Amino acid sequence: MVKVLVSDRLGEEGLKLLRQEGFDVDVKLNLSPEQLKEAVKECDALLVRSKTKVTREILEAASNLKLVVRAGVGLDNVDLKAAGELGVKVENTPEAVSFAVAELTVALMLAVARRLPEADRMVKSGGWSKEKFVGLELRGKTLGIIGLGRIGCLVAKTCRAMDMRVIFYDVVDRSEYAQMYSCEPVVSLERLLSEADIVSIHVPLTPETRHMIGEKEIALMKPGAILINTSRGAIVDERALLAALKSGRLGGAGLDVYEEEPPRNMELLSLPNVVCTPHIGAQTSEAQKLASITAARKVIEFFKQA
Ligand code: NAD
Repeated sequence: MVKVLVSDRLGEEGLKLLRQEGFDVDVKLNLSPEQLKEAVKECDALLVRSKTKVTREILEAASNLKLVVRAGVGLDNVDLKAAGELGVKVENTPEAVSFAVAELTVALMLAVARRLPEADRMVKSGGWSKEKFVGLELRGKTLGIIGLGRIGCLVAKTCRAMDMRVIFYDVVDRSEYAQMYSCEPVVSLERLLSEADIVSIHVPLTPETRHMIGEKEIALMKPGAILINTSRGAIVDERALLAALKSGRLGGAGLDVYEEEPPRNMELLSLPNVVCTPHIGAQTSEAQKLASITAARKVIEFFKQA
């Protein structure tokens, strides 16, 4: 019987599926590295989210291990080099959370444009001022998407339905998506930044994209433009963003991700034109359910083929 160790909290649906297919599923949460080292010894597959750190030491202790599946997107918690050297396949489930992240992205755009958190706080504390809350409509505005991948496409689709013009910049040819979602490619990042009223980032964090949006890039953006980041914090230079928001050069920002998490840049977070969420892009019950089922299917497929 194939043994699957589940070391992070995962939706029951995926675990049920694995058991139905005859896998021996062992759920052991909150293990110390030493306990994990012991627990992985016998297992054939390891199922994690982001909490378990799958280090070289853990991988070396798991002599039967053939597969690690991370339910979710980032693989920062798995030592991919060690896994490759030890012949352990690593998979993730990025497709399961795209809708959730795209919806949060649009929610942040609206929240910044209409200053929803501030309005909510004011009414709840007994205030009533309409003049303070003359916002912006998204309709007719130009949205600039950096990275027209899974999430970028869904954001484009939603924003087109809101009568926005959508332009995008990507390093690979996305003309098929552009046609499918009625959005226009631009030749460079610089061009996108200078044309968009709202810029939304949907690229992975790589050495090339680290601080992709810094002082120089912000200077190219339209005065009063809004920046949304639901990708990875380090893609934006937070010091440059803080300066641009404080000076009024940018109109606002919606942030789900930060250079450091939890964030410590309280000056940035406390600005009235910044709307913040605690990296909850993938946190919907639908996405979590789908991530657990998709992860379970990846385990099933792998051992069927083996
Ligand atoms: P994806 O791989 O489907 O799309 C990324 C796109 O970015 C691709 O089209 C790629 O060609 C493009 N790209 C890569 N480097 C680029 C560059 N230098 N310039 C321009 N384009 C570039 O990824 P996805 O699933 O859409 O995820 C996008 C981002 O969302 C990732 O950073 C991911 O980590 C993040 N994410 C965040 C959350 C959250 O909880 N906030 C959840 C899931 C994913």
